[in-house]
Amino acid sequence: MARYTGADCRICRREGCKLFLKGDRCYSEKCAMERRAYAPGDAGKKRVKESEYLLQLREKQKTKRIYGLLEKQFHHYYEMANRTQGVTGENLLVLLETRLDNVIYRFGFAKSRAEARQQVRHGHIKVNGKRVDIPSYRVRPGDLVAVAEKAKDMLVIKSALISNERSSVPAWLEVDIEKLQGSVLSLPARDQIDSDVNEQLIVELYSK
Ligand code: SF4
Repeated sequence: MARYTGADCRICRREGCKLFLKGDRCYSEKCAMERRAYAPGDAGKKRVKESEYLLQLREKQKTKRIYGLLEKQFHHYYEMANRTQGVTGENLLVLLETRLDNVIYRFGFAKSRAEARQQVRHGHIKVNGKRVDIPSYRVRPGDLVAVAEKAKDMLVIKSALISNERSSVPAWLEVDIEKLQGSVLSLPARDQIDSDVNEQLIVELYSK
């Protein structure tokens, strides 16, 4: 599947905020947003007149990039959210948060969503005892998500656990670090999703 292969830090600079795409580096002074907090390219430092459309577009691009999705995938999530009962913007965030790769990241088993996606693709993750290698797999309340036995000694997971000591697991999830497994207690409520996203702007963009 096609995927963005450019520099991650360039994305943060384009969106004008830290999206935490590179694990440890994002918390260090090497972070590009600490040193060059302006858009990449020759016109990066020029002031751009911010229209309503531009704000909506940037919010959509930012959210898409936080979760590492391409346009078609992201739009598919929006359509699902729109078809579901409730507030479309919140439905959208719930769909994004309950992706298996995001849950692995939230448990702290990976330093970034990209790393979590790789763990899933490589067959290192089990859901309810069965191997699942689809990063977009949607977890449900009551699911037990675990690192497969053969992957428990992987350095990349141990290193992620040390790095992620600083962040807490959201209340809709419960993690057992010793067993390298976690449970989905419920679907996330909006105030349990700490992504810096204004979902209403995305809904306004797609509703045009
Ligand atoms: Fe973004 Fe992380 Fe790069 Fe900083 S280090 S610009 S937060 S990806």
